[in-house]
Amino acid sequence: MTTDFTATRNAFHLPNGTIYLDGNSLGPLPRAVPDRVATTIRDEWGEMLITGWNRAGWMAKPGDLGDRIGRLIGAEAGHVTLGDTLSIKVYQALAAALALRPDRHVVLSDNGNFPSDLYMAGGLLKTLGDKYELRVVAPEEVEDAITDEIAVLMLTEVDYRTGRKHDMKALTRKAHDMGALAVWDLAHSAGALPVDLSGCSADFAAGCTYKYLNSGPGGPAFIYVAPRHADAALPALSGWLGHEAPFDFDLAYRPGRKVERMRVGTPPVLQMAALEAAMDVWDMADIHDVRTRSIALSELFIREVESSCPGLELVSPRDPQVRGSQVSFRFENGYAAMQALIDRGVIGDFRAPDIMRFGITPLYLGEDDIRQAAAILSQILAGRHWDRPEYSVRQAVT
Ligand SMILES: *Cc1c(COP(=O)(O)O)cnc(C)c1O
Repeated sequence: MTTDFTATRNAFHLPNGTIYLDGNSLGPLPRAVPDRVATTIRDEWGEMLITGWNRAGWMAKPGDLGDRIGRLIGAEAGHVTLGDTLSIKVYQALAAALALRPDRHVVLSDNGNFPSDLYMAGGLLKTLGDKYELRVVAPEEVEDAITDEIAVLMLTEVDYRTGRKHDMKALTRKAHDMGALAVWDLAHSAGALPVDLSGCSADFAAGCTYKYLNSGPGGPAFIYVAPRHADAALPALSGWLGHEAPFDFDLAYRPGRKVERMRVGTPPVLQMAALEAAMDVWDMADIHDVRTRSIALSELFIREVESSCPGLELVSPRDPQVRGSQVSFRFENGYAAMQALIDRGVIGDFRAPDIMRFGITPLYLGEDDIRQAAAILSQILAGRHWDRPEYSVRQAVT
């Protein structure tokens, strides 16, 4: 299949006059979502009431959708499920991995990781006791820091600020050589670039669906457990829907079948309806085509910005092979410049202390958008249009 990017673009609603370079934070609305969600509400919830759990297949959706996501990330069928938020899925994956290495007590991560992953790890280790340690090194020091002391290597493949991409295969191999397990966060990978969990022998992975998978704000997270661990991994958050037979209402917990044990409670049916419609877009797209085009558009954006925006410094890797699907620049007035840009219809985001971040999402972005965004940015900088008091007022979400 060769991806028809005109068709994929038509599958999204983008507000008039907007160039959306923030699909790495919140994907835009797929056109099919409102009707799908309305149908689920009206015909399923409305008409079927509680029988929807069986008749509309709500109970099976976390596994069905998990498999559809699994195809994008190289997971074996039946080894991905959905639910909760990514922070919670990271916690579950890490807890399960640590329990598989009971004689070791160090979790290794890097300081490019998303803070929530580190917070969750810190919180988990605190409950496990004093002998556990969270060791955080610089991204380029990770490989050397994987020693035989490490229980679990916990990394986000693509750095949320810079887009720097770890070598999942090599680092997982090193972890295994040292007797450790590897947990990968795919927040900025799933739907952004090809991932081969099975080929990399990843042990656990988790990711979100509201970024590059376009499920909408609050869409459920996903979790992967490698087949070789699926019968041994314990979920830590042992909720009733992860039980082998939830409707036995047995007072003793028995872990469910393979990754299904990572389910916790009632799944978000309406949000899954949105995700289901969003995943239909992927039936039209090949992730390898998406990657090729993402690199071409990213290279174009870097060229245009570097030639027309003096003062902006590229902080993403220059080599596209080690960069995810975003491009970031450092600018000391980055927050104000981003507000000025948003005011002019070009939406990116800002990451403290000084990073302007742009998501490059080929499903709905083309070369004209990229050129126009760079041109508007260059006008803002040349005219110092960012230098207005209202652009410096920090909002709650940046
Ligand atoms: C976006 C993101 C999260 C967000 O976690 P939620 O619990 O879904 O809010 C976590 N980790 C990484 C690496 C992220 O990029």
